Amino acid sequence: VKEHGKPERSVVTTCAYCGVGCTFRAEMRGEQLVRMVPWKDGKANRGHSCVKGRFAWGYANHKDRITSPMIRNSIDQPWREVGWAEAIAHAADRLKNIRDQYGSRALGGITSSRCTNEETFLVQKLVRGGFGSNNVDTCARVCHSPTGYGLKTTFGTSAGTQDFDSVEHSDVILVIGANPTDAHPVFASRMKRRLRGQDGRPGAKLIVIDPRRIDLVRSPHIEAAHHLPLQPGTNVAVLTAMAHVIVTEGLTDEAFIHERCEIDAYEDWARFVSDEKHSPEVLEAVTRVPATELRAAARLFATGGNGAIYYGLGVTEHSQGSSTVMAIANLAMATGNIGRPGVGVNPLRGQNNVQGACDMGSFPHEFSGYRHVSDTETRNLFETDWGVTLDAEPGLRINNMLDAAVDGTFRAIYIQGEDILQSDPDTKHVAEGLAAMDCVIVHDLFLNETANYAHVFLPGSTFLEKDGTFTNAERRIQPVRRVMDPANGYEDWEVTQLLANAMGLDWNYGHASEILAEIARLTPTFAGVTWQRLCDAGSLQWPVNDQFPDGAPVMHVDGFVRGKGHFVVTEYVPTDEKTGPRFPLLLTTGRILTHYNVGAQTRRTENSTWHPEDLLEMHPTDAENRGLADGGWAKLSSRKGETTLRVKVTDRVAPGVVYTTFHHPETQANVVTTDYSDWATNCPEYKVTAVQVMPSNGP
Ligand code: SF4
Repeated sequence: VKEHGKPERSVVTTCAYCGVGCTFRAEMRGEQLVRMVPWKDGKANRGHSCVKGRFAWGYANHKDRITSPMIRNSIDQPWREVGWAEAIAHAADRLKNIRDQYGSRALGGITSSRCTNEETFLVQKLVRGGFGSNNVDTCARVCHSPTGYGLKTTFGTSAGTQDFDSVEHSDVILVIGANPTDAHPVFASRMKRRLRGQDGRPGAKLIVIDPRRIDLVRSPHIEAAHHLPLQPGTNVAVLTAMAHVIVTEGLTDEAFIHERCEIDAYEDWARFVSDEKHSPEVLEAVTRVPATELRAAARLFATGGNGAIYYGLGVTEHSQGSSTVMAIANLAMATGNIGRPGVGVNPLRGQNNVQGACDMGSFPHEFSGYRHVSDTETRNLFETDWGVTLDAEPGLRINNMLDAAVDGTFRAIYIQGEDILQSDPDTKHVAEGLAAMDCVIVHDLFLNETANYAHVFLPGSTFLEKDGTFTNAERRIQPVRRVMDPANGYEDWEVTQLLANAMGLDWNYGHASEILAEIARLTPTFAGVTWQRLCDAGSLQWPVNDQFPDGAPVMHVDGFVRGKGHFVVTEYVPTDEKTGPRFPLLLTTGRILTHYNVGAQTRRTENSTWHPEDLLEMHPTDAENRGLADGGWAKLSSRKGETTLRVKVTDRVAPGVVYTTFHHPETQANVVTTDYSDWATNCPEYKVTAVQVMPSNGP
């Protein structure tokens, strides 16, 4: 890693990679970033960091950065560099023409969980108030939208229940569908500290539910009490079997249930899970987890003291993603593990601002603060404040926008900070949808894969070039501070404001703090948040309002946000993605420590020297049966497409299961993933794809 001499000044800001939200001192010499030093006062990281936040910032000055706007009339023409005024006028004219010709619902926008709360809020405001539709969605659609649905239904709001400190008080830690040491490394260190035991206290017991033997299962001084290597796609069956044991063996927390939960719904659920067909012995055939292990894990979770559940995309990115989130919530309520330190339901958010993107109203059915667009009182509030008329009908989700584009009813899209061609499933369908549109505006740092289908490219700004806020996985709102001037001349929210005003709106924000003030004015959970308070305190955990003037580290302490907790019957429904003679293996995917998502940033840093390619993990038996050796090339094919990867032979995965990461565009793992999605939210089922793997000579 290059260092650039002695720093002259430093600015405290927040990491833009994962949902842990580590804070750093960005040390500067002139306009040159010298190094990122983890900030000891950071409440999420306390002076710690990982290899991404600490070292992977060189992309900010990478030669691939686009700093001038570009336009073209059609995607088969070369780009033409233009000034900002021409680019914005060109984009606004195209959008207005399409709106006039096809109506407001032919336009939409996609926000990014990488951007600040303020930028996200303005994109949804532009779509609702300027384009005139609710066709706004966020990349959280493809990761944690089931968390939104599941936790809102059961608890009343879409948020993790605990702060990170809470893990210090856990006695049993259940990790399901998450790989914290790779994806949330700084929080994983906190968790490992608790698992090893500290301050004279024995370590917490660990249960891991994951098809793959993740590092946490066995690491120095840590050995999981139970690793349940389930068949991909059977989370609901595993959780139902655990619930069966807890209910039938009388291990529920009756006092908590009767005081805090809706009894009728609880009794329906208890009757459902008690049925013998939901016993571990019967469901073993589905889950492939030995019944004895399922029983032992259930007993440990129910009787081991404070039980905390942490989960990730291995829960949400399934056709039963929302059901799995609700099954987790059921388990927590049934055992009384809600509302105090050491317990709770904790979604580990992948991107830095997934929580914030969802909070800011970037779903097509909700305004900021998770209020439905059909609610007249809420709509009136926004209409009065913004001086516009708003659509009462929920808009289109990302996948619906693409479908409608192919059908010819959706014609234009503004995409801020998201490469949907590489990150969304079924790449071919995404390309068809984008190609069918009359106007695609990409607002990003690099000419990404999606930009191949764009008519307007608006250069974006990095997190080092902007003021604003991110909200991490523990609902902690933290300042992001401008360390250097934007290479393109504008912060991202300023570009959105230019576009809004060219569309006929009259926005006059002078600084991100003014947007935050508007968010606070219109969003009850943010009512007490100001830029000054954040700068003084370092962070605040929402809700921050009259009831919780200093925020709330733990939620649902005296009652659930919805009043009583709501149990939901979650029946296991097998995915429609089936293995068979042509595609006999199941592919599941995940992240690696050094890289981040589609790699647009980390691949343009020194981190690219580690793990320069995606690898396909395969059990020795499966590899041998196909004549594949460690390090050899293989063709990975599914019903949707095929790609070529190098094989890594390992018993981390069970026979019949293969695994890869999705960080490198050369691989394009999503060429093979299916178009099945969560029944409630359309979150794609990235985690289960029937595939075949055969020897190959290479790409
Ligand atoms: Fe950044 Fe996450 Fe690493 Fe912290 S753990 S430095 S937030 S990537």
